[in-house]
Amino acid sequence: MTDKILEELENIVGKEFVSNNKEELYIYSQDPGASIPRPVDYVVMPKTTKEVQDIVKLANKDRFPIIPMGGGLTLSGLTIPVNGGIVLDMKRMDEIIEISESSRYALIEPGVTSGRLSSYLKNHHPTLQPPLPDAPPSVTIAGNALINGSGYISQRHGDHGSLINGLEVVLPTGEIAKFGSAAVSDYWFARGPIPDLVGLFLSSFGSLGVVTKLAIQLFPTPKFRDFAFGLTKDPKNLLTLLPKITETGLPEDVLLGTQDKPDWMKGYFFINTYITADSEKDIEEQKRKLNKIYEENGARMMEVPENLRQYYLIKPLFASSAADFRKGGGFEYVGAMMPLENVPEAYLKGIEVSRKHGIFTTIGSRLISQTHNILVFFTYPFNRADPKDIENARNALHDTNKFVLEMGGIPWKAELGAQKMILEKMNPGFKKVLKSIKNLLDPNNIMNPGNWEVKKNDA
Ligand SMILES: Cc1cc2nc3c(=O)[nH]c(=O)nc-3n(C[C@H](O)[C@H](O)[C@H](O)COP(=O)(O)OP(=O)(O)OC[C@H]3O[C@@H](n4cnc5c(N)ncnc54)[C@H](O)[C@@H]3O)c2cc1C
Repeated sequence: MTDKILEELENIVGKEFVSNNKEELYIYSQDPGASIPRPVDYVVMPKTTKEVQDIVKLANKDRFPIIPMGGGLTLSGLTIPVNGGIVLDMKRMDEIIEISESSRYALIEPGVTSGRLSSYLKNHHPTLQPPLPDAPPSVTIAGNALINGSGYISQRHGDHGSLINGLEVVLPTGEIAKFGSAAVSDYWFARGPIPDLVGLFLSSFGSLGVVTKLAIQLFPTPKFRDFAFGLTKDPKNLLTLLPKITETGLPEDVLLGTQDKPDWMKGYFFINTYITADSEKDIEEQKRKLNKIYEENGARMMEVPENLRQYYLIKPLFASSAADFRKGGGFEYVGAMMPLENVPEAYLKGIEVSRKHGIFTTIGSRLISQTHNILVFFTYPFNRADPKDIENARNALHDTNKFVLEMGGIPWKAELGAQKMILEKMNPGFKKVLKSIKNLLDPNNIMNPGNWEVKKNDA
């Protein structure tokens, strides 16, 4: 890297929006998770698609890596360059281009955060709600959907990647392509009926192009929302309980978990079913139904005290309440997707791994589209000021990735170590296709190289 590159980048986006200042690069060289920091050469904040194209063309000419970044909050180091290069911070591309009330989608730029889209809809289209993760409001809708994130409507409607209607992408060689209905029509209403290439860009971690527009589905806002909270001693009860709960068609979201703190929860598995309705009477009726199902399937429904009730309604994840907020505290988790039958064993193994590494157990899960798939998050808080503590969290992550893959699950938003383990287990045909697509779209290997890298002799 030379200063000539700095100059060329400044010519594209303006002096204020490029930096190779050490203090600023330091921030981008790490994330709040347990990944080991890695160096960054430049940070650039484009405002337009044309600027993104010019940066990508420059990267091809000078052969340097580009790492697209939204909020940078995956916790698995996905926006930290593997071998240096430019972090492309997309936050200035934050326009909400269109809200279609009739076809229920939002067409947005990739820097639109979850906080911005949800407050915009509350103010201008209150009958519509977006798919949001339970993450800080500074995460981007694009960053979350592109990693198959999930949130409070995923049980009912699917993970957020599946809710993308279309993409505009600056390909690794600098051309623009549209995917989904917008490839043919002025409307961003669906992914088909043409070959579905949107999927190429999901969970590929910015290694196949830079998304510059994204259409995401929106859903009617319910009038009333509440939850039914239950506990069970035996995780095997979940195998019968969860299908019974989803069979009713009632839940908007179902969260499960077990944690050593607060003390009263230790040794129990909780099930929190979120319901919605047009009236409070309907909510009470739904709760009665759920109560019966909980009791017939080995769980006990509990009334939650009013002060906690408001908290759980807004911030349903218990895991964050167990995060280590001591000086320098950090919070890390392996999310893993798996079929329902794996879940009881995954919980027991997760408890074992936590104990082995001296970490309080905090495991949660979210049902995705009616128990078709379950996301289990194994949380390992650590004190960033204590190197031994960070090491424990890293070792726990490694052990978790290993047993998840052995039992048939797949680590989600996989960090480099987990990607390597997934690739080792991956079907050779899949790897061959993956490698061919990468070589075809990105001949100079400039897009987030090092991610999903299929080695020469491996395909
Ligand atoms: C406290 C906490 C709670 C969380 N809870 C949840 C939760 O409930 N559900 C959930 O799904 N996640 C959760 N997460 C994980 C994560 O923060 C989110 O998934 C988040 O939405 C990721 O968005 P981001 O903008 O930070 O993405 P980034 O980290 O910036 O990017 C994610 C990936 O997408 C790529 N990318 C980003 N923008 C582009 C682009 N324009 N073009 C091409 N590639 C791009 C990046 O290179 C990276 O590989 C949580 C995280 C924290 C810290």
